[in-house]
Amino acid sequence: MINMRKQTRRLKSFLFLLLFFRFHVSGFTEISIAVQPFGNVDTLQLLPVLEAVVREYHAAEVVIRKPVPLPESAFYPPRGRYRAEKLLDFLDSINDGKYYRVVGFTDKDISTTKGAIEDWGIFGLGNIGGYSCVVSTFRLKRDGKTDLFEPRLKRIIIHELGHTFGLYHCNWRLCVMANYKGTIRILDEQWAHLCAPCKRSFRKKYKIGQ
Ligand SMILES: [Zn+2]
Ligand SMILES: [Zn+2]
Repeated sequence: MINMRKQTRRLKSFLFLLLFFRFHVSGFTEISIAVQPFGNVDTLQLLPVLEAVVREYHAAEVVIRKPVPLPESAFYPPRGRYRAEKLLDFLDSINDGKYYRVVGFTDKDISTTKGAIEDWGIFGLGNIGGYSCVVSTFRLKRDGKTDLFEPRLKRIIIHELGHTFGLYHCNWRLCVMANYKGTIRILDEQWAHLCAPCKRSFRKKYKIGQ
């Protein structure tokens, strides 16, 4: 999903370093990514996934920050879930400038407005060309296919981060940037990486390998 709004406010937050990968990248923009867990979501689930994220986006580092509570401002009482665009606003508000991008991470259900549907449950949401995206594991295990959890999480994180790197939805249905339209079946068919044109567009923007 895409969120077109973005804002940058900078407040202090505390760093809790769990993971640190370092790639020596010759590009001009050092891509450092933070994961911001919400509540007591199990961050160990990220371990097999983040290495692929680092590889896909040539990131210099990915760190997992100290968890913070889900902001009450994002709670949507009629459905008992959290509005994703408000979570993005929150992530922007605690941007301390240490990282280039942030991925909010929660196991609670998240939603946004989709067309005429006021509150539509989603896997994730990302600001196009913005600082923040958010992913939820809530909808990834509901069908009991636990062996698919990890590849699903990987695809969603790479997809939502792709939006923050300026990528829109891709017309190639297997590309990780294709619109999965909130359906797990489409998500399961996708690659866990960018197609060649999306990759080219990303690499050109960040002057990687040029
Ligand atoms: Zn999307
Ligand atoms: Zn693509």
